[in-house]
Amino acid sequence: MTASPPQPTYTATLLSGDGIGPEIMAVGVDVLKAVAQKFGFSWNFQAAPIGGSAYAASGHPLPDETLQLCRQSDAVYLAAVGDFKYDTLPAHLRPEQALLGLRAGLGLFANLRPVQIFPQLIDASTLKREAIEDIDLMVVRELTGGIYFGKPKGIFQQENGIQRGVNTMAYLDSEVDRIGKVAFELAMKRDRKLCSVDKANVLDVSQLWRQQMTKLAADYPAVELSHMYVDNAAMQLVRWPKQFDVIVTGNLFGDILSDEASMLTGSIGMLPSASLGTEGPGLFEPVHGSAPDIAGLDKANPIAQVLSGAMMLRYGLDRPDAARCIEGAVEQVLEQGYRTGDIASEGTQVVGCREMGDRLLTAIDRQT
Ligand code: NAD
Repeated sequence: MTASPPQPTYTATLLSGDGIGPEIMAVGVDVLKAVAQKFGFSWNFQAAPIGGSAYAASGHPLPDETLQLCRQSDAVYLAAVGDFKYDTLPAHLRPEQALLGLRAGLGLFANLRPVQIFPQLIDASTLKREAIEDIDLMVVRELTGGIYFGKPKGIFQQENGIQRGVNTMAYLDSEVDRIGKVAFELAMKRDRKLCSVDKANVLDVSQLWRQQMTKLAADYPAVELSHMYVDNAAMQLVRWPKQFDVIVTGNLFGDILSDEASMLTGSIGMLPSASLGTEGPGLFEPVHGSAPDIAGLDKANPIAQVLSGAMMLRYGLDRPDAARCIEGAVEQVLEQGYRTGDIASEGTQVVGCREMGDRLLTAIDRQT
């Protein structure tokens, strides 16, 4: 008799953060445990403080020990940080600063935001059904370069007493290649259509961007590459979003377009994201914030957190089987008519965060 192969164990750092963070994280973790049992692997979870709660406990929103634990794990699973009570702190101590520290500390340069619409939630969108039905696109945003980081930057005094505000949009060819490869690889796993968004009619930095993307295309002959100016892309996203499969773009354009694209679905509580580097663990988190207005009330929608767990399995740990199981369970629970308050509509049954979690566990159990 041959011995069965050992079951893999994945180490994930759990960062619950602030506001609704602990509530949605609890559901996310239960779901991850359930799929591990179903698919025969196990977790080594290590929880660490981040954000306002970390500041309150230790005086810094991203303690060194937290970053160390993240670096030593296979993946980082984050809920949300922030609370209005920390708004008066100096900028470097605010909870949101922890996110920038994590991105930099883990070298996360690619931000992936899928935009998919669940048929049961089509009416939550402000767009017409025929425009968004079956929409399934992915925005890939460069996260660590471009105008948010380029130098020179600042507000400078001119000799004549006039002030001049400056930011610099700059990309190295290697930075474009790096994000381009992520996008082409993703397109290969999807419908093999990649749209690179720039402003090459006006900006030199965009001309370099377009040149590098075009060069890269030679390595991916199966992918159909197109280019679009960012102003047109903003328009096309609301006109006919179904034309897109993967969109790749720089930091500033990606910031704006990924928010626009995510709102096509109409419900912030449903949207996951992933941030990846060349090596080391990725970061998986919902798009929404810590929703302090509903914290502790069992009203939060845990689905974005749960779907971020599915992204962690697919893109961080190469477990598409378990990812699909989670996505199927979400669809099943929505089909059964259960909704948290933020996505409720006539004829649906409103449940709290905890009960939504329980329904998801039952659905995972039933997935074949
Ligand atoms: P938010 O996303 O927290 O909330 C916006 C609105 O959406 C609120 O009405 C909230 O109740 C609702 N909402 C958000 N997530 C929900 C969920 N899962 N279920 C049900 N309703 C949900 O944005 P905000 O109010 O502008 O910011 C609150 C705090 O979060 C701030 O401190 C902000 O800096 C921080 N923030 C953090 C992140 C992050 O951790 N990645 C992102 C954005 C904002």
